[in-house]
Amino acid sequence: MKLHEYQSKEIFRKSGIPVPAGKLVHSADEAGEAVESINGPPWVVKAQVHAGGRGKGGGVKVVQEPAEVSIVTHTLLNSPLVTPQTTPEGVAINQILIEEGVEIEREFYLGMTVDRSVGMPTMIFSQAGGMSIEEVAATTPHLIKKEVVNPATGWMPFQARNLVFAVEPLPAPETLRGLTSVMQKIYRLFLDLDCSLVEINPLVITRSGDVVALDAKITIDDNALFRQKDLASLEDPKEKDPLERMADEYNLNYIRLDGNVGAMVNGAGLAMATMDVIKLAGAEPANFLDVGGGATEDMITKGFEIILKDARVKAILINIFGGILRCDVLARGVIEAARKNEIKVPLIVRLEGTNVEQGRMILAESELEFLVAKDLGEAAQLVAKQV
Ligand code: GDP
Ligand code: MN
Repeated sequence: MKLHEYQSKEIFRKSGIPVPAGKLVHSADEAGEAVESINGPPWVVKAQVHAGGRGKGGGVKVVQEPAEVSIVTHTLLNSPLVTPQTTPEGVAINQILIEEGVEIEREFYLGMTVDRSVGMPTMIFSQAGGMSIEEVAATTPHLIKKEVVNPATGWMPFQARNLVFAVEPLPAPETLRGLTSVMQKIYRLFLDLDCSLVEINPLVITRSGDVVALDAKITIDDNALFRQKDLASLEDPKEKDPLERMADEYNLNYIRLDGNVGAMVNGAGLAMATMDVIKLAGAEPANFLDVGGGATEDMITKGFEIILKDARVKAILINIFGGILRCDVLARGVIEAARKNEIKVPLIVRLEGTNVEQGRMILAESELEFLVAKDLGEAAQLVAKQV
């Protein structure tokens, strides 16, 4: 679960990590009011959306006049934001953070995540902050420093020194202390809140030598939300993909992807394998959907409905191995969904397992048009030809 910048900064503030003073607003009028109680000029007007790269997409504006704060807020709230991390249509902006502007002397990157190759939390620090860390990693990898944290010892002061003493030119001692203090707090917070990511880009040194987190990104491990009840309530349903939200309501495991082949599969492993075979055949999956081993007719109908609602889907592959889920149940679910929604794209079906003959018969006797594949490989070939 991702948190918004303003939510992450609130957590930082409570943990003692310095952040600029700011206020969350929902309208130009509120922005006009907020600016009176925030130090400036300059002020920074920041779109609160889950996509990163807002600076590049015009979602972060530094302004000099109080009147401009409301004007910029109005513009942002009324047009979608397109960044390198959104779709070309962009995302709606519903909330804006107004902050006091900070005079930047230097920009750093600081992040913590689990390095899966070693299975341990890892602090990542770079003196090339401000820009995309992916870009830094690609062009100047030597500027990215890492420290793996042994959970038995926790974050050790020498690790912070390893990171900050690599900075060239070396900042003043007071600033170095500021940086190491933020690192230690980030580690604590990462652990305490069950994070999968804490990221500050940029972590800046101001003209006056203070260390301040100008941006804040926190992702909480969904599997820990059962014990992070306070954080769970911070979820912003508006930021979620509408189809994923629908799937949540139906208790379906659905993740939207970038391709155009809709896939309905039972079982997570088979769903993963199906995505692999779709790619192998030269096409791209539009989603991951596991309707579950023991899916009911109703769940099949709902899963199929979600795929049909995705405008990018150009062909649908149904791959079911009937174990607990019987093929006749699947067939009836698909027909029910087809009755409610017009199917405008080719449908490829691969059925195997319990009651497969009945399932095939039910489909054949329906008015549904579809292609039958004899195995998964053929199904993928067929579907790739349609897109
Ligand atoms: P992101 O692009 O989504 O990561 O959004 P950021 O919060 O990182 O903001 C993008 C950029 O805006 C930062 O890298 C800074 O260069 C700039 N920025 C943000 N806050 C301030 C500020 O208070 N003063 C100045 N001068 N620039 C700022
Ligand atoms: Mn940033």
